[in-house]
Amino acid sequence: FLPHLVASMEQVEETYIMIKPDGVQRGLVGEIISRFEKKGFKLTGLKLFQCPQELAEVHYEELKSKSFFPKLIGYITSGPVVCMAWEGVGVVASARKLIGSTNPLDAAPGTIRGDFAVQTGRNVVHGSDSPENGKREIGLWFKEGEVIQWTPAIAPWLKE
Ligand code: GDP
Ligand code: MG
Repeated sequence: FLPHLVASMEQVEETYIMIKPDGVQRGLVGEIISRFEKKGFKLTGLKLFQCPQELAEVHYEELKSKSFFPKLIGYITSGPVVCMAWEGVGVVASARKLIGSTNPLDAAPGTIRGDFAVQTGRNVVHGSDSPENGKREIGLWFKEGEVIQWTPAIAPWLKE
């Protein structure tokens, strides 16, 4: 493949990013949104939302068998969260890098969890772990019409 063809084949992905209740309570909403904005990804969905128990259970259904599952559901439903959809080439893996390791003590300084958290059970932010889960989670958390397709005016300054 020629490099320019490889670049044009890069898939635009979507990821679901959520500021968890501790991030909202601690006043980190602006700071966290800012990191994704400054990186150059495109915000396509954004809302403050009180998560019902049933949705939390479906979102985290892969973790149902874990001993911490009830605590996790309690945590996620303990106050409002900020739901976001972000779009871009490579956004899923890149957002996970910006967020940092699940255990904030292992998360590198400069990452959101590395800078703002000390415990796995209060790790401030969620990010989808695959493009498939990005689509799945955006579908779970957003209603029809809440995710907006738009072209940022700065697009030519982000990608050649
Ligand atoms: P993530 O993709 O980095 O968010 O991590 P996982 O998908 O493995 O886990 C989902 C979420 O469950 C984490 O972000 C934590 O909020 C929570 N979690 C994971 N492991 C533990 C644990 O051992 N104890 C507690 N209390 N929460 C956990
Ligand atoms: Mg996960």
